[in-house]
Amino acid sequence: MGAIRFELIKTCKQSGARLGKLYTPHGEIQTPIFMPVGTQATVKSMTPQELKEINSQIILSNTYHLYMRPGHKIVEKAGGLHKFMNWDRPILTDSGGFQVFSLGPLRKITEEGVEFRSHLDGSKHFISPEKAIEIQNSLGADIIMAFDECAPYPADRDYVKNSLERTTRWAKRCKDAHKNSDRQALFGIVQGGMYKDLREQSAKEIMDIGFPGYAIGGLSVGEPKELMYEVLDYTTPLLPKDKPRYLMGVGSPDDLLEGVIRGVDMFDCVLPTRIARNGTAMTSQGKVVVRNAQYAEDFTPLDPECDCYTCKNYTRAYIRHLIKANEILGARLITYHNLYFLLKLMENVRNAIKEDRLLDYKNEFFRKYGYTL
Ligand SMILES: [Zn+2]
Repeated sequence: MGAIRFELIKTCKQSGARLGKLYTPHGEIQTPIFMPVGTQATVKSMTPQELKEINSQIILSNTYHLYMRPGHKIVEKAGGLHKFMNWDRPILTDSGGFQVFSLGPLRKITEEGVEFRSHLDGSKHFISPEKAIEIQNSLGADIIMAFDECAPYPADRDYVKNSLERTTRWAKRCKDAHKNSDRQALFGIVQGGMYKDLREQSAKEIMDIGFPGYAIGGLSVGEPKELMYEVLDYTTPLLPKDKPRYLMGVGSPDDLLEGVIRGVDMFDCVLPTRIARNGTAMTSQGKVVVRNAQYAEDFTPLDPECDCYTCKNYTRAYIRHLIKANEILGARLITYHNLYFLLKLMENVRNAIKEDRLLDYKNEFFRKYGYTL
């Protein structure tokens, strides 16, 4: 028996989007879903109780960061990541690859793995596919990710081809090294940059190895949105219908809608929590940079259409004051709202799929959101 099971409930007749259920060792997830990111075993400023209040079904945590600090062995001694951080619902951990590759001059890639220096103290480390799986086996998330190389954008074809072929070899090594396949599902990652034939090659190679779920990597790395949608247009149809599909690192409202319409089931992104700390809210009318002077005497909620705790009880003027005064509560209240907003958006998306009207929902959402590509 595998650790997870995916049930495709229906496909929206209007848009082609998928409605599904993902069964994991820590409960069910209704898809499509947005996963809040808890980089350091915490979704910044949110308690697990609050995450449940806003209906977070699953959260994501970062292997690289937990490996560096406090160390995966400590998390394992604590009884695993769920126990360590007091979260009893599903967790997904990334492989650490993206963070390691983002270290730029601090890292060196070989066939064996990646040597890098810590962003914390400059100490030398080496992560191989086997090591990435060992760390994730210790952390104990319900879904874990293969160690891949995410090619930058732009990158020439030869670079992307070499990198995706190494990703395939590493994916095989990850599957061989994975010890807990009965309680942790290992997802493969399709790379191939912005090249159609390379995406096809990568999808085929990764599917030949065989995984209980597939991620699309190497998008949202600085390319124009039109290009990302184009790559999704030809990449998602390559993936098996009966397995969950995860688009990594994507989480703006427009990208979530466009991704779901192209057949994606799972998303994650630091965007809602990161912009919250800078005083920016995602609202039904588009982005509101609440730290701006124009909100100093605005005694309306962040989003008049939102019924979250923040919007029911606080004004833009008050939250702006908190942000300007560097009060922790300001970032907390916006984080709460932004996550609620995206999770609510995905709930609305699931309802629209159920009723075969996702394109209508999207057009209505974008009209208010003021979105233009
Ligand atoms: Zn709100």
